[in-house]
Amino acid sequence: MEERKSKSASAVCSYAKKCGGCQYQGMEYAAQLKKKQKEMNKLLKDFGHTEPIIGMKDPLHYRNKVHAVFGRTRKGEIVSGTYEAGTHKIVNIDECIIEDQISQSIIHTIRGLLKSFKIKTYDEDTGYGLLRHVLVRRGFATGQVMVVLVLASPILPSKNNFVKALRKEHPEISTVVLNVNDKKTSMVLGERDIVLYGKGYIEDILCGCRFRISPQSFYQVNPVQTERLYQTAMDYSGLTGKERVIDAYCGIGTIGMVAAGRAKEVIGVELNRNAVRDARINAKLNQIKNIHFYEDDAGKFMVAMAEAGEKVDVVFMDPPRNGSDEAFLSSVVRLQPQRIVYVSCGPDTLARDLKYLTTHGYAVKKMQPVDMFGFTQHVETVVLLSQQKPDDTIEIDLDLDELDATSAELKATYQEIKDYVLKEFGLKVSSLYISQVKRKCGIEVGENYNLPKSENARVPQCPKEKEDAIKAALKYYAMI
Ligand code: SAH
Repeated sequence: MEERKSKSASAVCSYAKKCGGCQYQGMEYAAQLKKKQKEMNKLLKDFGHTEPIIGMKDPLHYRNKVHAVFGRTRKGEIVSGTYEAGTHKIVNIDECIIEDQISQSIIHTIRGLLKSFKIKTYDEDTGYGLLRHVLVRRGFATGQVMVVLVLASPILPSKNNFVKALRKEHPEISTVVLNVNDKKTSMVLGERDIVLYGKGYIEDILCGCRFRISPQSFYQVNPVQTERLYQTAMDYSGLTGKERVIDAYCGIGTIGMVAAGRAKEVIGVELNRNAVRDARINAKLNQIKNIHFYEDDAGKFMVAMAEAGEKVDVVFMDPPRNGSDEAFLSSVVRLQPQRIVYVSCGPDTLARDLKYLTTHGYAVKKMQPVDMFGFTQHVETVVLLSQQKPDDTIEIDLDLDELDATSAELKATYQEIKDYVLKEFGLKVSSLYISQVKRKCGIEVGENYNLPKSENARVPQCPKEKEDAIKAALKYYAMI
């Protein structure tokens, strides 16, 4: 068995040259890991030591999601597989060493059924035809299987008989969904889902939590390694049960829900509406009450939190391959978490974002690559960053009234001003904002007090609404 595995693991797949999927075909798995390690060491060397990559026990058939594009050859034969690298020519694929085998055989069955059901494949050039893609996703822990037929129209003739014929061959199929993609686009999925059979989603189990996954929601493709990835993220987070935590780019809420049992409160933010709906249902499914999800751009959401003067203890961030943006990163810095756990599937953007964070008060403590994508060049990494400087607000609040040069008889404490503003205006204001307004009003607050500590620090400016509220407090305390 072992011998068979290692033999096929290094064997060159017959599609290797055409299918652009696996860049490391023909390379022994151990050599692949070595190569990835070397690349990560090099890329991240400025941030310290990179831990040895966590490799897979079995690098074959690890993908729980199989996607096939459908089309015809010039001779009219139906083909399904991947696009030839860099082109829109379809490579007909019968077997793949990294994809789930059950899912692959479902795709073959569909290919065989098309003719008798007179279902035409879609032609990208003419826009004629119906079936564009098939996506199969299997919950490795639950065995549930979802088939998504991506069609150029919402109407699939004889759909009931088609589903029946498919299920006869594959009784393991739990649900079949018709996804409508009628646009001239390279995106696989359209916006509309029509359930043809079953519930329209599957469930899987990760780290002891049960997750519902809809066709349009992101779900990690390698669940075995995902558990090891999340475990590393949890270890790095150092949660004790008291923390306020953010799970940014949360998808269906997986990281946040695993963290929720070890934290006081978790806030999840995600852009994809379907994923947020799944996340909310997943919280109920797992009876997790201390987690809340918001549908928003993570950057915008964090800016709003920082504006409101909120504070958090730990930020998990798991952005897409193109990484995070400056709105997000600068707000994380303002939220002053003690720890940031950055989960990345894009090493280059990770390095870019780490550069920002390490020049804005955070230090890299640990970096752990995890191999989630054997035979490809892709690497997933978990990085722990911790806050370098003592927490500004805590320090300032302690020393504030001593540092502040406002003359004694005029002095209301920062806390008194904060309390007044909260009570009268329902607004939370930071010490920084109070000092800015005091300065504006000509009240002396000490030369360096609350000025940025480094050249490139971006200091948030007190918004007008808060400025007016703080002025009212200063008036109330007869300071102006
Ligand atoms: N943490 C999740 C998902 C990670 S994938 C998991 O482990 O399963 C990245 C997620 O970020 C996707 O769900 C994607 O929809 C979401 N996303 C992409 N851009 C975003 C943005 N600007 N704001 C918030 N979420 C975003």
